Amino acid sequence: MRGPYLLRPLQVDISVPERVGGIYCLAKNPRQIAVVARVERNLKDAIKAHWKEYEFFWYEPALSPKEAYVNQCYIFHRCLEQGTLEIKDHPHPPEKVETKCPICGV
Ligand SMILES: [Zn+2]
Repeated sequence: MRGPYLLRPLQVDISVPERVGGIYCLAKNPRQIAVVARVERNLKDAIKAHWKEYEFFWYEPALSPKEAYVNQCYIFHRCLEQGTLEIKDHPHPPEKVETKCPICGV
């Protein structure tokens, strides 16, 4: 995962490639990831939408929704163990894609 970067619109424009999907993380403290999220098409817009709520972001582009889901699961479970997540609901697999969480099988 790439980051942490300071979550400001200009920083997002500089750091994140155009029109790619993948996962991103958000935090107020760079050592404590609060949110692990996935987006199908536009990481840049998804991250920018949170700039007033969080101070830092990370991201990892993905080549497919399945790859994004698997990455999200790994990071989600790691952060869940560390106890830093604000949203503790397990990620949902992408629609119309046969895949399971590699950690817990969801
Ligand atoms: Zn899981």
